[in-house]
Amino acid sequence: MVGRKCLPTNPEKDSTFVVTVPKFQEQTGHFDHASEVADLLAVAPYELDKGQKGPVFDRITQGLTRHHAANCTEYANMLRLLKFDADEEHALEDVPFLPARLFKLLDLKSVAPDAVHRVLTSSGTGGQPSRISLDAPTAALQTRVLTRIVGDFLGKSRLPMLVIDAPSTIRDRTRFNARAAGIMGFSMFGRNITYALNDDMSLDVDGVVAFLERHGQAPFFMFGFTFMVYQHLLGAGAGRVRGLENGILIHGGGWKKLVDLAIDNEAFKQRLKDETGLGRVHNYYGLVEQTGSIFMECEAGHMHCSNFSDVMIRDADFQLCPNGERGLIELVSLLPGSYPGHVLLTEDEGAVIGEDDCSCGRKGKYFQVYGRVAKAEVRGCSDAYASAS
Ligand SMILES: [Zn+2]
Repeated sequence: MVGRKCLPTNPEKDSTFVVTVPKFQEQTGHFDHASEVADLLAVAPYELDKGQKGPVFDRITQGLTRHHAANCTEYANMLRLLKFDADEEHALEDVPFLPARLFKLLDLKSVAPDAVHRVLTSSGTGGQPSRISLDAPTAALQTRVLTRIVGDFLGKSRLPMLVIDAPSTIRDRTRFNARAAGIMGFSMFGRNITYALNDDMSLDVDGVVAFLERHGQAPFFMFGFTFMVYQHLLGAGAGRVRGLENGILIHGGGWKKLVDLAIDNEAFKQRLKDETGLGRVHNYYGLVEQTGSIFMECEAGHMHCSNFSDVMIRDADFQLCPNGERGLIELVSLLPGSYPGHVLLTEDEGAVIGEDDCSCGRKGKYFQVYGRVAKAEVRGCSDAYASAS
C-alpha cells in the first residue's frame, strides 16, 4: 500500500491524513474503492477546496472508470466505441458520461449477481424504472456519505422529526416508491418521528400541534417531498399550522410539479416563512442513480457539491459551459462501486455559479438547477448509447 499525505483533516490543527492510491489487482482491475472513499469521510464534507479536492477526486474517479471497464461488459463496450482507454490518465471532463436514463434500459452492474445486496428502482418521470444494483459496500458508503452531508445542515444529534407525509406511504409496500425510500432514508436523522398528514392526506392539525408543543421550542427536523409540502402544508394547510420557527425543512423531488404550478424556489420559501414561520429550508437535488451523494441547497440558495460529488454543465454539443452559462447537468459521484454510474448526464438544465467562494462558507462548486430540458434531445443521446452497447 502506498500512502501520501495530501489533505488536512482539520486546518486548525494543521494535521494531515493519508490518502492511499488505488490498489489495483492486475487480473480484475479491482481497486479498494470503499477504503479510498472512507479516507475522504475523515474530512468535513464541504471542507476541501479545488486544489485539495482535485487530485483525490481525479484518482478515485479514474479508479472507478477502470474498475467498471474491467467488470461491466456493456460499459467496456461503450468506452471502446468512444475510443476511450480507461488505463490512460484523463481529465475528469473527458471521462465519457452515461445518460442517467440508460439505467432504465440496461441492467448495468460491475459485480457478480450474487454480490448484489439490494436493487434500487425509480419510476422517475414514468415509463420503465431505473434499476440500480447495489453491493453491500456501495450501499454502506451511500448511508455514510448521506449522513455526513445532511449532518452538515442538521447537526450531529438526531432531532425530533416531522414528516410531511402520511404514515401509509411507508406502511403500504404496494406503494413503496421514491417517496417511501426518501422518508425511510432521512428517518435515520430523526427521532420521535411524527407524520403530519392523515392517511387520507388531510393535515393532522392536532397531531402537528401536539408535536410542536412537545418539540417546537428547540430545533426540529422536517422532511417531505417538495410537492407534498407545497400541497399540504401551504395549500390545504394554509394558516392552520404556525410556530415552525425552529424547524429545519429538507425537501426534494417533485419540483417539476412546482414548475408546472409556476412557483419558483424563492417564492416557495417566502410563502413557507410568511405562512408557517419556517425560515430554514433546504432543497436537495440528486439522482437515484447516485443515491447518497446528494446536493443540498445552502442558506444562500445554491446547490452545493460535497467532497464526494462534482458537477459539470454541457452545451448542445456536449462541450463544457463556462460558469454562469446554462446547459445540461452532468453529475459525478464517488460512490457507485457496483454499477457504472459515477459519471452521468442528467436531463436537467442548470448552471455552475462559482466554486469555493459561496457566502455560506462551504467549499466546492455551487450551482443552480432550472428544470428539465425537452426530453427528446437527451433520449436521442441515450438511445444511441443503448443501441451501441
Ligand atoms: Zn452556499
